[in-house]
Amino acid sequence: MTCQRVRDIKERQEPGTIEIRVLKKWIQKSKNEELCYQFVDAYGDCIEATADVKHIEHFDSIIQLLSCYKVSGCIATGCRTYMATVDHVASLVIGKKARFDPAPDLSIPDVYFNFATYDALKNRVKNARLLTDYIGRVETNSLRTTRTGKILCKILIRDEMKKDVEITLWPDKGHLIGDEVIPGDIVAITSMMVTEHNGRLQLESTYLTTAFVNPDMPQTINHINRIKEVPAREPTGRDDQIATLQDIKLTSQQNIQTPKNFICKATIKRVHEDQTWYYVLCSKCGQKLYPQQQNNSLNFVCKDDDDIIPNFRYCVNATIEDPTGSTDTVFFNESMEVILNISCEDMVNKHADTTNPKIVPQLIRSIAGTTRLLNLTLKNDKQIVVNSVNNIASTTDTQSTSTAPGTSAFTPATPVPKSTISKRTVIETPAKDKKMKVT
Ligand SMILES: [Zn+2]
Repeated sequence: MTCQRVRDIKERQEPGTIEIRVLKKWIQKSKNEELCYQFVDAYGDCIEATADVKHIEHFDSIIQLLSCYKVSGCIATGCRTYMATVDHVASLVIGKKARFDPAPDLSIPDVYFNFATYDALKNRVKNARLLTDYIGRVETNSLRTTRTGKILCKILIRDEMKKDVEITLWPDKGHLIGDEVIPGDIVAITSMMVTEHNGRLQLESTYLTTAFVNPDMPQTINHINRIKEVPAREPTGRDDQIATLQDIKLTSQQNIQTPKNFICKATIKRVHEDQTWYYVLCSKCGQKLYPQQQNNSLNFVCKDDDDIIPNFRYCVNATIEDPTGSTDTVFFNESMEVILNISCEDMVNKHADTTNPKIVPQLIRSIAGTTRLLNLTLKNDKQIVVNSVNNIASTTDTQSTSTAPGTSAFTPATPVPKSTISKRTVIETPAKDKKMKVT
């Protein structure tokens, strides 16, 4: 029996048996949660399938990611109209009647891209019917801070038509393209939203976004060959977004009206041991609580409220340095929790000397000597504080990645036929896609 091509599936027509590989699985976050899959056939055509999320256990027991199946008993309906990952007029609905019979791996691709052209992006602004895949060469890779202190990864890529497009990776996807990805590297990036910023089109990551650095799949070869012919962009001098401590000091000599944010790679030189390292707030009114020794335990009381829960917050004073200088700073709660991986409350209860709040626990003192990418704020009073910490800096110094940074796609990739499956990582559930960066 011959199978139907995925491409030929039409809405409201009973689909024949299809032979596919399961490429992705995710739970669509909309008002009605849906269990979604992406299926690709041997021709490289792709279709989405949806199922009732309540039956996820059943489907998990019969459908393995990246495995191949002969699939029958589905229903064909219209395509999804919001954040579809595949440009197809139809999609499949799979219920309990759907059969998934394991099929041999008949050279069905294990990746799917539907790269958009720059011109196609215009029609997708503020219209999230279809998510966007894009491929290009990295021209700049930098970090920015939002007003709320989030660190965004901004990559400018140039496509094969010499168009420059800015890509913003939100913090949950920042790991996909680390700072080891440099100009000249090729990135193929999927499932993004098109937005407009200052009159320019840009792409923003969604929770479905994946990225491939210097990909070497058959689906990308032609694009990469054309991108190689495109001249590099002229540098504009505005791309260096990592500040030095000297930059920050120079800025502090000006009279600044509003706090300014910087990203700075610095080493924690010394934790100040003679200063209070935490404070406690009232859960009812947010005011500072007062320590009261009761019998053998330390209680925190509010001057106004009873029956409160103490909210412990770090405020660790330390000196940081980089090659251009050093400065005193305060690490606030969010940054210390990232560095120490232990809440302030646990630190106070398990590691602190409760009789003297100025004795800094050894665990905190031990962060001296570590280098971090810090999100610093220069306040109006010229105080420099650390709001958040990015783990990129702490890992790139020691970790070699499989993305072969620096070896751009200009050097021909060694073909590794049939080994691509082991290199592929696919979304299973949106929260578990930590290591999606693949070459
Ligand atoms: Zn209170």
